[in-house]
Amino acid sequence: MTEETQNKIEEKIKCEICDRTFANADGLASHNSAKHSEKIYKEKKSFPIKKIMNWAIFIVVVGLIVWGIIGLVNKNSADKTIIDESNLTFEAPIGAIHWHPHLTIKIDGEIFPIPANIGLAGAHMPIHTHETDGIIHMENNNPTKKTVVLGYFFEVWGKKLSKDCIFEYCADKGTLKMSVNGKENFDFENYFMQDGDEILIEYNSGVK
Ligand SMILES: [Zn+2]
Ligand SMILES: [Zn+2]
Repeated sequence: MTEETQNKIEEKIKCEICDRTFANADGLASHNSAKHSEKIYKEKKSFPIKKIMNWAIFIVVVGLIVWGIIGLVNKNSADKTIIDESNLTFEAPIGAIHWHPHLTIKIDGEIFPIPANIGLAGAHMPIHTHETDGIIHMENNNPTKKTVVLGYFFEVWGKKLSKDCIFEYCADKGTLKMSVNGKENFDFENYFMQDGDEILIEYNSGVK
């Protein structure tokens, strides 16, 4: 037996955990099972499982957060009225206004109640209601194009109005129509309200 071979055999029967050397492989094996069985068990079994579990939980949690945020963003854009001022072709009134258009909403023939004090909780918005009479108060010292459209009232109210939907009622499942002073109007959220306007929005489900 050469010296090199002898070294290799010695390397093989050396315990890698505590550096003890053994006369033969059986000696090392019984030493391992006697002294290091717990450690071997832990390293081989529970360590990777725990790591995989932690990663799985981490991935699930991150996934849920991302899914929640995407859902919230989509829901918000679906529920809210978004006015694009570049769509508004009229000129904003100059100087302070105090106008009172009147709004009626009918869903399947039934009047949808418009609450009192919309736009008055906390900040006093330049568009608001005082009573449940459907009168929109446009009390505005510096009116801009955005703040005089019907959609701005819905934005302050926190409800949806577009040519496609009022609240959760959408034109894909019924008919959505709007009229101003008895004449059909197609401006919906972009309609520039005038003092004394009689605005009617009607949705009828199942009618196409
Ligand atoms: Zn007021
Ligand atoms: Zn008023």
